[in-house]
Amino acid sequence: MGGAGSSSAGLRGGRRGVVQKFGGTSVADPDAIRRLIDIARAARARDGRGPVIVVSAMSQVTDALLAVTEEAGASRAESALAQVEHLRRRHLETAQALLGDHAGPDAPAALAALAAQINQQFEELVAVVKTLAVLREVSARTRDVIAAMGELLSSRIVAAALVYAGLPGEWVDARRAIVTDGNHTRAMPLMPETTAALRTAVLPLVDADRIPVLGGFVGATVEGHTTTLGRGGSDYSGAVVGAGLGAAEIQIWTDVDGMLTGDPRVVPASRLVPRLSFGEAAELAYFGAKVLHPSTIFPAMERNIPVRILNSRKPDGGGTLITAEAAADGDPLTAMAAKSGLTVVDITSSRMLMAYGFLRKVFEVFERFETSVDVVTTSEVSVSVTVDDRRHLEGIVDALSEFASVSSEPGMALLCAVGDRLRAEPGTGARVIRVLEEVPLRMISQAASRRNITVILREADLPHAMHRLHEEFFT
Ligand code: ASP
Ligand code: MG
Repeated sequence: MGGAGSSSAGLRGGRRGVVQKFGGTSVADPDAIRRLIDIARAARARDGRGPVIVVSAMSQVTDALLAVTEEAGASRAESALAQVEHLRRRHLETAQALLGDHAGPDAPAALAALAAQINQQFEELVAVVKTLAVLREVSARTRDVIAAMGELLSSRIVAAALVYAGLPGEWVDARRAIVTDGNHTRAMPLMPETTAALRTAVLPLVDADRIPVLGGFVGATVEGHTTTLGRGGSDYSGAVVGAGLGAAEIQIWTDVDGMLTGDPRVVPASRLVPRLSFGEAAELAYFGAKVLHPSTIFPAMERNIPVRILNSRKPDGGGTLITAEAAADGDPLTAMAAKSGLTVVDITSSRMLMAYGFLRKVFEVFERFETSVDVVTTSEVSVSVTVDDRRHLEGIVDALSEFASVSSEPGMALLCAVGDRLRAEPGTGARVIRVLEEVPLRMISQAASRRNITVILREADLPHAMHRLHEEFFT
């Protein structure tokens, strides 16, 4: 890294470092944070520098903060404040457990300093909650101010715990490092601005051999308003930081071994996928694999930085390595992903044939209602699409009904078989469909990438279909 004229070595300098992102369960309690510290220490010993650490909020904290926001906005201040105190206690107790044994020379002072920071954050939260309870309205901007607190707190605790453990941790305010657009609650990082901010806020720390720690999920607009990147967005932050700094690798530390061939709750025989291409990983994440936030791959892919998914409880497992090249082995399919809770919307042109401009009109409706569509199939007179966000379904159906006849069917699921080799082996697609022959398929789709075959079926048929595919291709 380091643009023209920059003297900074950065993470790509002689000794390249990694960005390590830890999810909510990997910072859930003092033991989890101690495991994080061991993992960071090992990376530093291996690379001779870094790592840069990005953390989620402690597990369930974001949900709790959003619940507090709802309570406050509904003028239930007492209940909201009780939940705030519960959260405060959890964070203070974690700090105490990590920094409270009085063995270290600076322990009491370090704990007092961290507790003061935590309390200050909570005083701010209390003030916002009281204001909301009076105003009785919650804007997206306020929602972000509150939601961001989970990551601001966890990152403070992790930075202090690293220092206490003898490592040069240093807290970085993510709002000074990730610059986003103003689309509150699902903001998009602005890459040129973010890269510049990372060079100012993070790179000097790396070059000074420190371990920067920042909260994921959180950013700020150019004007300085706090934003969040959408639920699960800490992965995305990790990737953006890794890409902006030109890291050697982006590691996503989580509570599963990596990307699996199927959903282990449905198919117990699901096994780890050791290698994936960027393209495969993006399809799997987009079509329902929960391990990775769908936006994570693109920043990494753009800078060609490997992404590794790892289990923070089993740091010696190999995890799943995601790179530009597909795996070399001969398996026709790499993994499957599934998503339930979908609704299929069938839109049939009122005129006999789909007139010129029909598709544009259809998709304009979905755009107007800010509802994204996952799978699309068409025939001469009709279009079928799937949506998983039902919030605006009624409005969508009404709007479409102005120029087409519309019906919708809830309770549907998507099953997606992914593999770069699908392209080279067209027979595999036929095999997928044949294996599912006794399952009624509502839609079948293979897009231009030709690295996935996606079928839409009834939710009730999903477990059986997953078993059939897994048996045929992965065992
Ligand atoms: N804490 C945020 C959430 O729960 C972001 C994340 O964990 O990735 O959505
Ligand atoms: Mg999370």
